[in-house]
Amino acid sequence: ELYNKVLELKGNIRVFCRCRPLNSEEITAGASIAIDFESAKDGELTVISNGAPKKTFKFDAVFGPQAEQADVFQDTAPFATSVLDGFNVCIFAYGQTGTGKTFTMEGTKEARGVNFRTLEELFRIINERKKFYQYEISVSALEVYNEQIRDLLVSGSQQGMMTKRLEVRQVGEGVHHVPGLIEAHVNNMNEVWEVLQTGSNARAVGSTNANEHSSRSHCLHCVMVKGENLWNGECTKSKLWLVDLAGSERVAKTDVLGERLKETQNINRSLSALGDVISALATKSPHIPFRNSKLTHLLQDSLGGDSKTLMFVQISPNENDLSETLCSLNFASRVR
Ligand code: ADP
Ligand code: MG
Repeated sequence: ELYNKVLELKGNIRVFCRCRPLNSEEITAGASIAIDFESAKDGELTVISNGAPKKTFKFDAVFGPQAEQADVFQDTAPFATSVLDGFNVCIFAYGQTGTGKTFTMEGTKEARGVNFRTLEELFRIINERKKFYQYEISVSALEVYNEQIRDLLVSGSQQGMMTKRLEVRQVGEGVHHVPGLIEAHVNNMNEVWEVLQTGSNARAVGSTNANEHSSRSHCLHCVMVKGENLWNGECTKSKLWLVDLAGSERVAKTDVLGERLKETQNINRSLSALGDVISALATKSPHIPFRNSKLTHLLQDSLGGDSKTLMFVQISPNENDLSETLCSLNFASRVR
């Protein structure tokens, strides 16, 4: 009974902090490191400023610059099991641009990230359970930019013909859906890899600077799982959201005009809406403000209730980034 209480108090929200290594330019420039990882095993990190410890933060796990994709995934894998057990799950990467959000979620061909590894784990467990359960998996890929939803699985040439706006609709008690969004049925990891690549390539289409665009939009994958227990016919339906959020950096002084200002306001609005929703859930507030942004509206059935949330707060070790790092760590502490 005591064990249950502890779990309940901890809730269904986990926060992992991950710090990227210094890059070669920073090393050449002789950058100072502002984070101490001595207690990373206990989920703690300490921010160092001018050579003195400034503040210690505690998370469910802390991954220093040496941590590999496989180390990170080891702690993430239980969320894949939860999805097959019928729970909705959301996994986010939050942080300043350049801190490794895309590296953690998407990864590279040589160092695959959470998206690929989670799907691989789903298929591994599906195979393990095949005598008792049958599962069907489909994947959507979408982008939220300036509060507008774009389907990343619509091919480049068809994008221009998409006249109908994609919107979130409630289609049942606690069930939200985006009518018209492509759901690609996947049977194996080759098909998963193709879908992930298609989505990733589509992000760059139509923007002059792909990196800049990706830092200013949210990239989401939704994995839909239908399960059937072959012994009693019981069915489950669950969703896994994998989200690479827009960069959390604050407005640059040069961005205060025109289109850029609107973009920045939309990013700030959706990230603070996300923070508000998760902290309202963490404190069991009776009103959860899902409707304040497209992002939280999309994720509504997968946040709260008995769904599980994992947030990666991504940070830079560089002392020059300290003020953004502190903002991100404080944001993450608020949702925990
Ligand atoms: P973001 O998506 O937050 O803007 P990226 O994922 O694009 O950041 O990371 C910026 C750069 O740092 C990329 O070149 C990426 O490969 C590298 N990088 C980020 N995190 C790590 C890490 N943990 N180990 C090695 N390289 C990393
Ligand atoms: Mg990125």
